[in-house]
Amino acid sequence: MPSLNSWTDRQQLAAPVATKTRSLFIGGQWRDGQSGESIPVFDPSSGRQVAHITRGGPDDVNRAVLAARAAFDTGPWGRMNGAARAQLMLRLADLIEENCDELALLETIDGGKPLAMARQVDVMGAVAKLRYVAGWATRIYGETFEPVQPGLYHTFTVREPVGVAGLIVPWNFPLTMAVSKMSEALAAGCTAVIKPAEQTSLATLRMADLIAAAGFPAGVVNIVTGYGREAGQALAEHPLVDKLSFTGSTAVGKTLVQAVSGNLKRLTLELGGKSPAIVFGDADFEVAVRSVLRNFCYNAGQICAAGSRVYVHRSLYDRFVAELSSQAQSLQIGPGIEPGTQLGPLISDRQLERVSRYIEEGVSGGATIVSGGKRFGSEGYFIEPTILAGTRADMPVRREEIFGPVAAVMPFEENDLDAIAREANDTEYGLCAYIHTRDLSLAHRMTRLLRAGTIRVNAAGLDYTMPFGGFKQSGWGRENGRDGVLAFTELKTVIMGI
Ligand code: NAP
Ligand code: MG
Repeated sequence: MPSLNSWTDRQQLAAPVATKTRSLFIGGQWRDGQSGESIPVFDPSSGRQVAHITRGGPDDVNRAVLAARAAFDTGPWGRMNGAARAQLMLRLADLIEENCDELALLETIDGGKPLAMARQVDVMGAVAKLRYVAGWATRIYGETFEPVQPGLYHTFTVREPVGVAGLIVPWNFPLTMAVSKMSEALAAGCTAVIKPAEQTSLATLRMADLIAAAGFPAGVVNIVTGYGREAGQALAEHPLVDKLSFTGSTAVGKTLVQAVSGNLKRLTLELGGKSPAIVFGDADFEVAVRSVLRNFCYNAGQICAAGSRVYVHRSLYDRFVAELSSQAQSLQIGPGIEPGTQLGPLISDRQLERVSRYIEEGVSGGATIVSGGKRFGSEGYFIEPTILAGTRADMPVRREEIFGPVAAVMPFEENDLDAIAREANDTEYGLCAYIHTRDLSLAHRMTRLLRAGTIRVNAAGLDYTMPFGGFKQSGWGRENGRDGVLAFTELKTVIMGI
């Protein structure tokens, strides 16, 4: 891998990598799509097309599912024990790490995120997750039970792989999320068909080479690129897929409930959020500002866990909003490939329009912009980090997931925890909630009152050793930790007369 030190180095490296045509990875080989059509891939920092990918359709999905089916039903994969599966996963982790620079570059090119983040979070996060989950492959087991009639029966459970898993991935953390789902499926002994988001398939396609190089048997992992409503839908509906794991919007998630109903395949849904952050008067001011900033600006706000409704105790409010604005304004906006960039572009012109519309609607409804609010530059899909005050609970900016660097800040007058919780819980979503206080007792009481899958107290970020998922319309089931792996298993009960 040549050095990536200068901007010219990076451009020269990026162009040929990104314009290489990658096709569909089915049964361990690169195959052409049956329609012969392709989908353009854009660099969101410039709006220029950098590559194209294959527009996979139902026929391609069918071929991939049949390959995954054969690998599961009759291939060598099913006869491998957990240790052998783990070894392949660890080999893949090593290969991803060795190719970190190239994969990170691909993530930055089609997703726009800062290169340093793509390296540390997306690629090395995928490596860490693979290594962690590989350990679970040898730790999946059932239980023995005391039967109703002791002495007559031996009763126990076993955990078995659910079968062929369809994995549908969004564009905000393309490689990490593909690897996250894939690693859990593989640890459990499943085979998989991955459908990356059409905007960000490059790194996942590159990973296919590494999957082959690691020595996975053909058909264990298959990758079909394409549009969600074509390839994704076909995967969700396919009768030979046993489990669908989807991360994406709540709107699409709901349609998948219908799509999987044909064969009642198992379904995990990791969906949207509108997470509250609550800053109490005794909070560590610096930590709270930094964490709130990170939670609505990270990945240009394109994170499901974004803390986009910020409730701040009146005693801190003015100072907090001023400091948050000042730090938001000092974030360096720019192409992910430029050193020092902290905030990259949004993924697409559509997303830029969407985020801008939310801000405009907020302002025309009476909200005021404390900072940001405008498109940044004239090339690419950049937007300034935006803080809104004076919003109302019924405004779309307060109710809907924006998926951009936009936060609404609201003061609260007193520590009436029930009243705070009522406001914080006044959402269809329930993915995360953030609490900032030095008072441990208050933190515990507040934690119990909030209806969300993950509560972070004086903390930001995600821990892949712990279950992650949503209450309410933020999803079904959990990923990460042991629960994430067990979600790819079936529980079999055995009652044996003795
Ligand atoms: P999206 O539009 O729902 O798409 C997600 C994936 O589903 C993409 O691969 C998409 O393909 C595919 N898809 C779209 N329509 C489909 C259909 N009818 N059938 C099957 N698949 C279909 O979401 P996104 O805009 O990419 O991602 C942003 C959303 O993801 C946000 O709502 C965010 O909160 C959520 N998210 C949740 C989590 C979590 O863990 N809870 C994590 C990250 C993101 P194409 O894009 O190629 O059409
Ligand atoms: Mg999409």
